[in-house]
Amino acid sequence: MVQMHELERHRIDTWRGLAFQKVNLKYYHRLISISPNSSLFEAVLTLLRFKIHRLPVLDPESGDILHILTHKRILKFLYLFLQTLPRPGFLDRSVLDLGIGTFSDLAVVLDSDSLFWALSVFVQRRVSALPVVDHLGRVVGLYSRFDVINLAAQKSYTDLDVTMAEALRRRTCFIEGVLKCYGHESLETVIQRIVQSQVHRLVLVDASDRVQGIVSLSDLLQALVLGPAGINALLP
Ligand code: AMP
Repeated sequence: MVQMHELERHRIDTWRGLAFQKVNLKYYHRLISISPNSSLFEAVLTLLRFKIHRLPVLDPESGDILHILTHKRILKFLYLFLQTLPRPGFLDRSVLDLGIGTFSDLAVVLDSDSLFWALSVFVQRRVSALPVVDHLGRVVGLYSRFDVINLAAQKSYTDLDVTMAEALRRRTCFIEGVLKCYGHESLETVIQRIVQSQVHRLVLVDASDRVQGIVSLSDLLQALVLGPAGINALLP
């Protein structure tokens, strides 16, 4: 508890110093940004290659931040833009068939696991959300990095022994909910669902709700923007 209170008083540069000691320096030594003259392609490549979810657009002369780009905004733009073009045939194919998403080595937690365990999985796997499953592997919730940030905002991080089932119940802020999709659903349906529900990922489940994969905005942008250029920025 004493350590926690000390942590709350730390300034941001002290936090960064601690982060430097603990994590891979490669990702922390500079601010990743893009210029307003860069292409949308470069923006997607940068977001996916550096596994970041916010990309500041900096004025090349003043260094001022002009905008922040996110996967959500880019996919929404592409979704609207696609409707003005001749309809590509691959939109009718299923996500499973197209291999869009992650289907193996998924990072998941059990509803009986502790919140502390979930936090360590976030740190080790560098994923942005964890499907929470019951003992049969059926999805019962989704716990995201956003929920972790809220623990700090609500100062409820002192109770990390609670189960994930309890942690899901205690969430008070905006809850993303578990938005799902099925392997047979078309790419178009999946894009529509993710854009309309304004979430970052869908959990791919079978008919019994067992988790089979994750289809995230990163996977869709990889497939729609980088894939056709022969680049895979999501390789581990
Ligand atoms: P994201 O962090 O959602 O932008 O996704 C980056 C990559 O990680 C995508 O290929 C996702 O399919 C994959 N991914 C997201 N969440 C998980 C998870 N819990 N387990 C394994 N892979 C994941």
